[in-house]
Amino acid sequence: MGQRVAPHLFLTCQQCRYCRTGRDAQCSRVKGVLGVTTHGAFAEFFKAPARNLLALPDNVSFEAGGLMSCAVITALHAYRRARLSLQDVAVILGPGGIGQILIQILRSAGVKTVAVGRSSESLEMARKAGADLSISLKAPDALERVRDFSGGEGAQCVFECVGTAATMKLASQFTQRGGQIIVIGEEADFPEINTIQIAQGELEIIGSRNGSRQDAADALNMMALGVISPLIVRRFPLEDLNAAIQFMRNGQAHGRLIVTVKD
Ligand SMILES: [Zn+2]
Repeated sequence: MGQRVAPHLFLTCQQCRYCRTGRDAQCSRVKGVLGVTTHGAFAEFFKAPARNLLALPDNVSFEAGGLMSCAVITALHAYRRARLSLQDVAVILGPGGIGQILIQILRSAGVKTVAVGRSSESLEMARKAGADLSISLKAPDALERVRDFSGGEGAQCVFECVGTAATMKLASQFTQRGGQIIVIGEEADFPEINTIQIAQGELEIIGSRNGSRQDAADALNMMALGVISPLIVRRFPLEDLNAAIQFMRNGQAHGRLIVTVKD
């Protein structure tokens, strides 16, 4: 066996202003995204340019390493898009695979975390990841509890991991004046946040997508140090890929699933 590696997914041009400034996932002449627009991931073998590969630290498993390319790098980059300090409060709206990793990162940075989610299973996973408080989306006093937890003003930052119009509206209510909403979840929805609320409350709405090669390297390092350890809910062999996808579609995947390939 040769060098164990994990890929950075974006096949970038290396020449545009975004590539030159280390914003790989924003490359304006991106040639493809591994496993998304090119073959890969759900196969025993796939091709990737050598420059896209990062060496896996010895104590990071293939399973954990595979999660770096999407969930872990996305969580780390989203954290870096925010402006958070010790003892600030962050809400993780929709604590699935990315949200759970965000909770681990935020904890290690001394930020207090509140997970707000729909299912009791995802809230349970959020608690396992270390959330200080978990609240059901359906709770009539959810807003009040977030405000109480943050000393009355609301959270400094909301990580919006769902991305629907309804959750964006909630995010704007959980955020304090001058606070930030980091948008990670993607849906073709138009959120109802009016401009009066944005202007008068000086809200910052910030998009976040995957991450840079540096984020990838740092994510692997943080996994090696044990700061980040993705929670895996279930493993499927490659032959049962369709069952894995069905499991996700049924809303049963409250964390990351792993598809394994025989050695
Ligand atoms: Zn580029």
